[in-house]
Amino acid sequence: MSALLIDGNALSQHMRVDFAARTQSLVAQGIHPGLAVILVGDNPASQVYVRNKVKACEQVGIHSVLEKHPDDLTQAALLARVDALNHDPRIHGILVQLPLPKHIDAQKVIEAIAPSKDVDGFHVASAGALMTGLPAYWPCTPHGCMKMLESIGYPLQGKHAVVIGRSNIVGKPMALMLLQQNATVTICHSATVDLKHHCLQADVIVAAVGRRNVLTADMVKPGAVVIDVGMNRDDAGKLCGDVDFEAVKQVAGYITPVPGGVGPMTITMLLANTLDSAQQSLSAKT
Ligand code: NAP
Repeated sequence: MSALLIDGNALSQHMRVDFAARTQSLVAQGIHPGLAVILVGDNPASQVYVRNKVKACEQVGIHSVLEKHPDDLTQAALLARVDALNHDPRIHGILVQLPLPKHIDAQKVIEAIAPSKDVDGFHVASAGALMTGLPAYWPCTPHGCMKMLESIGYPLQGKHAVVIGRSNIVGKPMALMLLQQNATVTICHSATVDLKHHCLQADVIVAAVGRRNVLTADMVKPGAVVIDVGMNRDDAGKLCGDVDFEAVKQVAGYITPVPGGVGPMTITMLLANTLDSAQQSLSAKT
């Protein structure tokens, strides 16, 4: 048996056609959706990520501003930039690319972003809203994973989902989103004893660790859905996920590839949040 592929590129392109139409409609109503992306320093991976985000905005017609700052930008100066963008009516979403240089308190910067423009969904107000089931911008990566599950019409109610990883930006919000859909959720982490035992119970596995081959074929129940969030490099320097893809796809029912899986969906959900924020500002005006 070979798993069906959940193609994040194809799903993204499909969703972005609709986003381009939504952008045009907002522009026609006098609001041009705008995203500001702040990059501090010259981390090569971060440069690629912000470039891809700006390119995606261009693709659907969202106005984007990329602010590049040197590595020695002070925290006070960065907070001042965030404050200015909070008050800029042309900007509906603010994204500060992580990681930030060590001398800057990333949490402080995230908390400085107005929750109404927190399109990354990292603000404590957004996290609290997700936890309590109130409307908020959901973190883009786990939200993208939920859209992938939705795209295959997977009924989560009563299913057992195992999330490997408990970070604030992926693992924890992922678990809450699955819970909201009435899945029974197990969260695993570095102190989990017998990860294989937990994974073998799962109908859905989301791997978000950042280590190759965390999930191997002997850990997967036949027919399970496997979502691979990880981004790692193999021995040849090629991008790969946390899942032993070639072997796991022989056992799983559905699987996401790396690259071309969760990555593009993360950016797509950033666009979605930015459009929602622009829509909110239009609604507030009328
Ligand atoms: P992170 O903050 O480093 O969290 C990793 C999590 O994995 C931690 O909760 C850690 O447990 C857990 N873990 C580590 N070793 C483990 C093991 N042997 N067994 C079980 N759990 C283990 O990473 P993150 O930000 O969540 O990102 C995870 C991965 O997703 C990375 O590869 C990252 O690059 C990728 N990512 C991809 C996208 C995308 O758009 N595709 C977006 C975001 C992240 P402890 O909490 O106990 O330390």
